[in-house]
Amino acid sequence: MFGRTAKWLRLLGYDTLYDNSIDDDQFLEIAKNKNRILLTKDEILVERAKNKKIPVLFLKGNYIKNLAILSKKYDIDLIIDPKISRCPTCNYEIVSVNKSEIKEQVPQSTYDLFDEFWICTNDSCKKVYYKGHHWINFEKTLEKIKEIRKTLG
Ligand SMILES: [Zn+2]
Repeated sequence: MFGRTAKWLRLLGYDTLYDNSIDDDQFLEIAKNKNRILLTKDEILVERAKNKKIPVLFLKGNYIKNLAILSKKYDIDLIIDPKISRCPTCNYEIVSVNKSEIKEQVPQSTYDLFDEFWICTNDSCKKVYYKGHHWINFEKTLEKIKEIRKTLG
């Protein structure tokens, strides 16, 4: 349910585990052992985490509302900086890459239009990122998140 929230946290540079195949016990175990904050819309899981003194946050909104709440609670800067972003798909770090190295991976028009590219460091992902049209949408979404954040008490 938190797929988009997870992608956005990664874009914002936060190491984010998102896996629908993990059950509640495994979630609690991972959160405890890896010092992660558990995000869930399951009130029973919230109680179980609290009992084990695992940091947990109950979220039930859409991703924009969720990110507004997260950014307020954890003082997250609502800026996407590719230098710290993680791959939204797989959570690995992304690194700046010389344009010539990704020539085969993007359409010619994209290659001609942009000079800055980033690539996922996960060998089985290797997605290429650049500041295309989607970037304008990112900025718009960030503005929406900021607006909602202002309305939070
Ligand atoms: Zn990746």
